[in-house]
Amino acid sequence: MSPTTGTADPRLPGGYHSPQLDVEVRLNANESPEPPPQAFLDELAAAVRDTELHRYADRDAIALRAAVGELHGVGPESIWVANGSNEVLQALLVAYGGPGRSVLIFEPTYALHGHIARLTRSEVVAGERDEDFMVPPDDASRLAADAPALVLLCSPNNPTGQREPRATIEALLGSPAGFVVIDEAYAPFGGGTAVDLVRREPAGDPAGGGARAVVVRTFSKAWALAGLRLGYAVAPPDVVEALAAASLPYHLDALKQLAGQLALRHRGETEARTARIVAARDHLVQGLAGLPVRVWPSDANFVLFRALERDGHEVWEGLVRRSVLVRELSAWPRLAGCLRVTVGTPAECDRFLDALAEVLA
Ligand SMILES: *Cc1c(COP(=O)(O)O)cnc(C)c1O
Repeated sequence: MSPTTGTADPRLPGGYHSPQLDVEVRLNANESPEPPPQAFLDELAAAVRDTELHRYADRDAIALRAAVGELHGVGPESIWVANGSNEVLQALLVAYGGPGRSVLIFEPTYALHGHIARLTRSEVVAGERDEDFMVPPDDASRLAADAPALVLLCSPNNPTGQREPRATIEALLGSPAGFVVIDEAYAPFGGGTAVDLVRREPAGDPAGGGARAVVVRTFSKAWALAGLRLGYAVAPPDVVEALAAASLPYHLDALKQLAGQLALRHRGETEARTARIVAARDHLVQGLAGLPVRVWPSDANFVLFRALERDGHEVWEGLVRRSVLVRELSAWPRLAGCLRVTVGTPAECDRFLDALAEVLA
């Protein structure tokens, strides 16, 4: 077997990374433009001093899982926590994917879904989104009829921005696929969740039938904690056990378990910040509507757009010269000329809009 260090995906030369340049306005990685609350940082600093770092952390991270479960009205047995939602996806693929099993995705979508699937040597089957970048329900059902081990559905979808209708998810759940994994990294910005579709029954239970839903969430976006590396799955309890078995013991360190629990005490601030970002997004979309670009609707904290009469790379460069960094998507299938801008503070959004107006003038 050859090592799997490279990748067949032109979006991921040498693996995944979002290049950072030294600019004044960084709107390329869908991070929160605001830091987490100062009170949280103060509580964390104090709690770190009281942590017994010579002891191993709680291997099962029960307190953190219980606190996360409260967010969604489920118990700790339905929650699995990991180092970012990417590690959740990796554990799902290690546990349920692999050689001889297939993983269904819908392009264009989050490049890491296919990438992690390939790293686990699963076969990747790529369906196509339609003109508006939605998953066509008939194609979804047809492709899922081949019983992939997992369907990975990003909703709201990165990098295109829209949430899938409930009917599409339900159609996939009615298929013979093993799991429908809904990556809800951006759900807090778009309303709606599939968490209520996660059942408790084990596979093959007569009460169930069809595929089982797993919802994946992250602290990296709405919780303003990208640097913390914390994500989780809401899943049936037997799946939570399988994910734990597929991971290294003590993968979640004591400081992260602590930080996650403290962060969850600041839910109100997180919701208020999310509302500010949604308001700024709507302002940003309005601003873009006045420029010679095509803009796609967004349920997330970013907006996809394409200059009507200009080369995407030139526009990207023009923005960088004005110290504004956005994500260029030219190498992505079907996104030639497209750029993705993260919603920043209102001031950052205005800087971006002014710079873009200049570049396009
Ligand atoms: C940003 C993002 C994540 C977050 O990954 P983490 O590992 O939790 O930082 C997950 N899924 C999608 C689609 C994303 O865009």
